[in-house]
This record gives sequence, C-alpha cells and structure tokens, in this order.
Amino acid sequence: MPHTSGLHSDKEAHLNGPLFLNALKNFDEAAKVINCDPNIAERLRRPRRCLTVSVPVRMDDHTVKVFTGYRVQYNSTLGPYKGGIRYHHAVDLAEVVGLAALMTFKNSVLGLPLGGGKGGVCVDPTQLSRTEKQNLTRRYTSEISSFIGPTKDIPAPDVGTDPQTMAWFMDTYSQEQGGFAQPGVVTGKPVEIGGSLGRNHATGLGVIYVCERAMEVNQMKMSGSRLAIQGFGNVGSFAAKFAFERGARIVAVSDVTGGIFNGDGLNIPDVIEYVKQNKGVKGFPKSTPITNEQLLEVECDALLPCALENQIDTHNAERIKAKLIIEGANGPITNAATKILDKRGIFIAPDVIANGGGVIVSYFEWVQDMTSFFWDEAEVDGKLKGIILKAFDNVYKFKTEKGIDMRTAAMAASISRLEKAMLLRGLYPR
Ligand code: NAD
Repeated sequence: MPHTSGLHSDKEAHLNGPLFLNALKNFDEAAKVINCDPNIAERLRRPRRCLTVSVPVRMDDHTVKVFTGYRVQYNSTLGPYKGGIRYHHAVDLAEVVGLAALMTFKNSVLGLPLGGGKGGVCVDPTQLSRTEKQNLTRRYTSEISSFIGPTKDIPAPDVGTDPQTMAWFMDTYSQEQGGFAQPGVVTGKPVEIGGSLGRNHATGLGVIYVCERAMEVNQMKMSGSRLAIQGFGNVGSFAAKFAFERGARIVAVSDVTGGIFNGDGLNIPDVIEYVKQNKGVKGFPKSTPITNEQLLEVECDALLPCALENQIDTHNAERIKAKLIIEGANGPITNAATKILDKRGIFIAPDVIANGGGVIVSYFEWVQDMTSFFWDEAEVDGKLKGIILKAFDNVYKFKTEKGIDMRTAAMAASISRLEKAMLLRGLYPR
C-alpha cells in the first residue's frame, strides 16, 4: 500500500516541507478517485534525485562566500526534467522538492513531453551586484552541469532569476561542452540567443484562453462580461489587455499600490500607459479607489487572481461574488476555501492549467532551439491555444465523469497520464 500517513521520518526532513506535504495530500485524494496502481502511486510520491551543491562565489570585496544550491529531478517518465531556478533567501531542499513535484504534475496535465524538476540557491539576489550574480550563476551551473543538458534537464527562470541569468547559464554550459552553443539547455533566454517570441505575454494570454473556455462550458461569453483582476504585473496586465481586446469589461484591477474600480469598464491600454508613468494603478483617472480585499469581492462574472498565493481563504470565500475564478497566480486559493467555493457552485480553473502558458511556450522555445527553426509570434500564440485548451478539456472531462472539483480533476488527469506511461514503459508491471 502507498505511504499515506503524511510526515516522513526525521531523517527525511526534505520530504516534510509544507508545500510537498500539501501536494501529496492532493495527490492521494486524486489517486484514490482514479484508483491509481498503489505501486505507481508509491513511486510518484518521491523525488527521483535530489542534488545539493556548495557554490563558492568571489564577492566584490574579494572575499569568498559559499552559498547552497539545489537541483531536484522529481520524475522523467514523460521526458527530460523541466523547471525553473529560484534565487531567494528562503530556498531550501524541502521547498525545491515541493516545487519539483508540482512541475511534474503540471507538465503532465498540460500534455507536455517533459518531466518535472526545480532548482534554487539560498541567496538574497537583491543584495548581489551584477558581477556577483553572474559569478554565482556561472558556478552554480558548473556544479550541476553533469546532471543537466538539452535532453536531460532543462532549467528556466523563476523568482529572482531572469532572461539575463539564463543567458549566463547557457554560456557557462556551452563553454563546458567545448564551446559549442547549446541553447536548448535552458529556456526563458533573450530572443537573440534562442529565446522564443511570445514568451513574455504567454502566461497572460493562456489565462484568457482558459477564461474563454471556462465561460463557454458555463454558458457565458467573454464579450460584454465583467472581469476583476488582482495583480497588474506580467500575468495580470497581459490578461487584462487580451480580455479588453476581446470586448470584456474590466471593472477592477489592483496591484501593490491598491485597486481601481469603474463599473463601465476601465480603458486598459490607458491603465497600462498610466502604470508605466506612475509605477502603479493607484490614482488612475476615471476610477474609484478600492482596496485589494474589496477587489476580490467585487460583483463580476470572472475573478482573475494574478498576484500572490493564499488570497482567498476561509475569511472571504463566502463573500466572493464571481461566477468563475481563473487562477493566474500560483495557489491564490487555499484548500479550505476551494471546498467552500465549490459548494457555492463557483467554477475554478486551477493554476496548473490556467497559468500553464508560461511553461508551454518554454517548451516551444526548447523545440525551436533543438530544431534551429524559429516561429513567428502568431504561430507561437496559436500553438499555445491548442495545447492549453486541450488540457482544459481533458480536465473538464475528468471533472464531469468523476463528479469531482476542477483541482482534483487536474491532479487526476495528471496522475492518469503518468500512470499509463509508467505501465507502458514496463517499469511497474501490475
Ligand atoms: P509580477 O511581479 O510581474 O507581478 C505581480 C503583481 O502583483 C504586481 O502588479 C504587484 O504589484 C502585484 N502585487 C503584489 N502584492 C500585491 C498585493 N498585496 N495585492 C495585489 N497585488 C499585489 O509577477 P507575475 O510574473 O505577473 O506573477 C504573478 C503570479 O503568477 C505569481 O504567483 C507567479 O508565480 C505566477 N506565475 C507567473 C508566470 C509568468 O510567466 N510570469 C507563470 C506562472 C505563474
């Protein structure tokens, strides 16, 4: 029988992080619904490989500081490991294990030919100079280089890392391969060295493709609908732009400076311009100021939380008035709030699908690098639509057939694909 009792032993503290235990809870629930083979479930509940490395870095004051870095390769049944690299002072092995597990289930539910991994360095990147950040990236890359590669494990940016970081990463790896350019070793690179067109807006566009399909299955339509969007950064502002272009009325948006409301709909191109000048939405003319809490409770057809995790919890779940919630951010709704919203008949498009546009276009970047043939933006957008909607439809089918909520259905669809692949590969004969 699979191990389902929660905590692992003290000797396995890296398997006891809250993120990972929460993922396992969702996993166990979904595995039960699809009657997953217990031998396969047991395997999928553990990472395949966890690498911890010391990363010595020459600082600007000539001292050497040693940082701790990680790369966790969770599962590669479906293809090379894929997942970002995080530079943050709170990174530890337990967190990276949790994130690597989530990438495995996300890549599987999206139907990508990729496994799941994640990496990180415990460092506050805001305290590093550009030179120090480059030195750190190059040494971290060297330390993990024999475990990664275009056909083995393909990192990407995450919190605290960006296209420039990926460029240094790709350069260091390429030098170690005899100096031959290896663009396929990382995604999220600048376009000039093998990045993909369309990556910048991919997550926001994916959110809107999913929103449109969620509306369709709920007998609603985007044109003329009322939307509220929390967060006006990369995901939120592009989601707002694409919804506006499709005739939706964006009645409220917010960011760290506060929220703005206009019942007739905000002019989004003007808001985007205003944010460029003023570094936030606060004070936008032709709007009423609202708080972030009020934004979540606005009367609307769809609410798009695109900022932070745990925004909707048991305190406000009863007051949400939206008919649909499309999770642009990672984990914006707590598990307990999900149950309340589900009972109230509010439809949730879960984060693993709704914000999957980013990793889908990362996958396209890798395909383009491996074939040395690059697509125009319209082709990228069109292919993104095909993949994200196919994933949504598959999960929606699980939801209706099994009578479960969309979040459990997403995990069930993910495990089901992994289970079939593992059985076919003959790793786990019944
Ligand atoms: P970002 O930094 O570009 O934007 C974040 C936005 O949230 C900013 O507008 C910020 O002002 C706002 N914000 C911060 N604190 C807030 C608060 N208390 N209330 C309201 N708004 C607040 O980040 P992003 O790339 O847009 O990512 C947003 C979320 O989407 C994160 O959860 C991220 O993990 C997730 N995500 C992003 C991508 C991607 O490709 N960018 C992909 C998948 C998931």
